[in-house]
Amino acid sequence: MSASLLASFKLAHLPPEAEKFRAEVKAFLQAEQPDEPADIRARSWMGHDAAFSRKLAARGWVGVTLPREYGGAQMDAFQRFVLVEELLASGAPVAAHWIADRQSGPLIHKFGTDAQRAFYLPKICAAEAFFCIGMSEPNAGSDLASVGTRAVRLPCGGWRLNGRKVWTTHAQRCQYMIALVRSSGEPQDRQKGLSQFIVDLHLPGVTVRPIEDLTGDAHFTEVFFDDVLLADDALVGNEGDGWAQVNAELAFERSGPERIYSSIVLLERWVTCLRAAAGDGSSDAHAATVGRLAVHLATLRNMSIAVTARLAAGESPLVESALLKDLGTEFEQSIASLIEAAISADPAAPVDAELYRAAAYVNQVAPSYSLRGGTREILRGMIARGLGLR
Ligand SMILES: Cc1cc2nc3c(=O)[nH]c(=O)nc-3n(C[C@H](O)[C@H](O)[C@H](O)COP(=O)(O)OP(=O)(O)OC[C@H]3O[C@@H](n4cnc5c(N)ncnc54)[C@H](O)[C@@H]3O)c2cc1C
Repeated sequence: MSASLLASFKLAHLPPEAEKFRAEVKAFLQAEQPDEPADIRARSWMGHDAAFSRKLAARGWVGVTLPREYGGAQMDAFQRFVLVEELLASGAPVAAHWIADRQSGPLIHKFGTDAQRAFYLPKICAAEAFFCIGMSEPNAGSDLASVGTRAVRLPCGGWRLNGRKVWTTHAQRCQYMIALVRSSGEPQDRQKGLSQFIVDLHLPGVTVRPIEDLTGDAHFTEVFFDDVLLADDALVGNEGDGWAQVNAELAFERSGPERIYSSIVLLERWVTCLRAAAGDGSSDAHAATVGRLAVHLATLRNMSIAVTARLAAGESPLVESALLKDLGTEFEQSIASLIEAAISADPAAPVDAELYRAAAYVNQVAPSYSLRGGTREILRGMIARGLGLR
């Protein structure tokens, strides 16, 4: 790794106030978290439970970095890190408010008008408005600059939206999508002429069709826009600035603890099984596997805190976020395969039905970790560019 890229991962520590906050979150989770088995908790940030999100909101823990005047907790990025880390570690069902808390709320706060802030942010903080991400399309996934969904400005004011998004997580359960669309120019203009719009998913002309994945969950969707009429104030930021805005969002999307913790409930269940059997001759090999995973986790966590520090300083560390997501998802994927290999190699391995169900679920979804939020090849291309190799 080049010295400059290495240097940008400066060792950063969670401030003592953030660590103090951890105890509060743990106590809340002990009291309020639904008592679910590991295979349900393993859904982690894909688990949608609006009632649970509202309980968090009642504590002020949704839209946490937003200012108090909008109902936010005005927390710093490190407190948010602790909150997110604890929610994920316990497998809390946080999908309902996840996108709005992580990126849509901060995006509207940064680029929106006063009226947009006043309308959307209090709803986000109350967990009354859930958002989804409308970037990918059938012919524009990795190549996001070639989006074909188009908003045409109408002479009488407002916009007419036509096109189709795909793989939109939880659109069927959200009120709003922030969609990246072409608002001027032609597809060959690439990044130029793209804008972001807040689309009310209940408007006439919007059709949301759930897509079932390998596990039988229908968490993502296809969304069709047929002559959807948008008001002028659906545009977020300036017309034509969509590409820059999306890139700012992606640094937040790729660098958080969720890119490390997606399989953590499975690991925790494995450790629980090993602990229960401790003294029964459980092999050193299992302890070594867990130790290796723990060390790996600790390193990635430090890198995530380092990127959080850069984001908190107002920077947009896109290459570092890409590196972290690539390494983080590789780690998350390795948890399922290492545990499976450990169990297969040891007929006396201490297992229970809950562990098997969690392992089956994680094994099925793990391949998606390195697709969602940008594929491995695309991230490695960005890293190569960051290293000056392309
Ligand atoms: C669980 C899940 C949830 C998702 N949620 C959302 C969501 O909420 N909102 C949203 O907008 N999208 C979402 N996505 C979509 C995701 O962002 C895309 O799947 C991803 O960006 C890849 O795009 P694609 O599927 O069109 O694949 P493609 O771009 O067609 O890529 C196919 C393969 O080709 C490789 N490839 C493509 N271009 C290159 C290149 N230039 N160099 C080398 N290799 C290349 C890719 O790495 C990949 O392996 C989700 C995806 C998943 C799996």
